Amino acid sequence: MKRMMDSYLEKLVDDDKLLFYQSVSDFAEENIMPNWLDWERNHQLIPDSAIDLMGDMGLFGTTISEDYGGQGGSQLDLILMGLSLGYHAQSLAITPGAASSLGAKPIQLFGSDEQKQLHLPDLATGKRMFVFGLSEPGRGSDAANPQVRASKVEGGWQIKGEKCWSTNAKWASHVVVHAMTDDGTTCFIVPMDAPGVNYQEMAGKDLWKQSSTGSIAFDGVKVTDDDILGELNNGFKIMVQTLNGGRLFIASMSLASLAFALDKCRSYAQEREQFDGPIGRFQRVQDVILDMDIVLEQGLNWLITLTNQYDSGTLTKESAAKIKIDCSRKASDLLTLAMEVCGGVASLDEFGLTRHHRDLFVCRVGEGSNFVLKSLATRPLMPDITLQ
Ligand SMILES: Cc1cc2nc3c(=O)[nH]c(=O)nc-3n(C[C@H](O)[C@H](O)[C@H](O)COP(=O)(O)OP(=O)(O)OC[C@H]3O[C@@H](n4cnc5c(N)ncnc54)[C@H](O)[C@@H]3O)c2cc1C
Repeated sequence: MKRMMDSYLEKLVDDDKLLFYQSVSDFAEENIMPNWLDWERNHQLIPDSAIDLMGDMGLFGTTISEDYGGQGGSQLDLILMGLSLGYHAQSLAITPGAASSLGAKPIQLFGSDEQKQLHLPDLATGKRMFVFGLSEPGRGSDAANPQVRASKVEGGWQIKGEKCWSTNAKWASHVVVHAMTDDGTTCFIVPMDAPGVNYQEMAGKDLWKQSSTGSIAFDGVKVTDDDILGELNNGFKIMVQTLNGGRLFIASMSLASLAFALDKCRSYAQEREQFDGPIGRFQRVQDVILDMDIVLEQGLNWLITLTNQYDSGTLTKESAAKIKIDCSRKASDLLTLAMEVCGGVASLDEFGLTRHHRDLFVCRVGEGSNFVLKSLATRPLMPDITLQ
């Protein structure tokens, strides 16, 4: 049975883009997914050999310019990669996804020529990976006021404090640290092997299970002025601007999980027989399947429109927030119903729905929690009052 997401995308993107989407999907199906369940059952992160394969496939350089050895693609390519890999597993999609949209993006947007020359060629091939160091144990939604501090010392800066929830930390070569400085906040590019940097994989994370999520402590780490990304005391702008693209990526993974669940449900509803016929003939089952299909079709149309706006430089932060809120909320609510449609078999790991159900929670909370983003998106609707 043809995947519904493919049918919708055929009408939304041109043949070249579709070919890219399909080739990434084939790559994952042939090279990655045959081993996935074993990794899941063994509580194993994506092995380095699979990271290398993704690097060879060019997945870390999708949006990096050909001048730096990347694929020279647009945000639309990145989103198609998110849809394609996220259909299988969000941990798979977020690994090159975060490396691109959160790791390489700040360098592409704000890096000096020297920083681009130094990092982008290796980022494009996956030899290097950057972590987006915004969240801290005491600063989640309130990320504009980091407790990590960079103090001026002779010859540069000294960084102290801790970042957490750092996606890709295990494989990272550098972390972009958002730190408090005297007159604002500043982003510093810090090598993971610098003296005083200590990474630990966060234990007990029960979703995005094959994705690396680390905490990174900075114990008086020394950096120089050359390691500042963008302007001094203007760090939060770098973080916030980066997140607009990241939120589109979260929306793509939400829709990909929904697309997987839709295909699973409509196939199961035609095969599984109860009361002398397929369960798909019951209207309550049909309702769930149709609701999923409507949200998927609408969501994909909206996502491609906003991604094109991103590529033409017209996407607003409110639109990026709204699609992230809407796709993650609807997809995760529908996943519970999708599991109900399939009954007990939905609880088996090999059936795949529990994985997507769990992973969709991150889409609600990550890259700005939906609650917080609602205030951001509502503000222009009621400009005359102060919202909490
Ligand atoms: C698997 C995973 C990967 C992640 N990867 C990264 C990463 O690579 N880099 C990175 O920097 N961060 C990362 N994050 C962190 C993520 O961005 C934060 O979890 C998110 O910003 C929310 O912060 P918090 O979890 O501390 O929640 P809190 O800020 O403590 O919020 C708790 C609750 O209070 C609500 N709340 C807080 N303030 C308000 C408000 N003003 N209005 C309404 N409600 C409010 C929130 O909506 C939420 O429901 C990751 C998180 C996860 C789970």
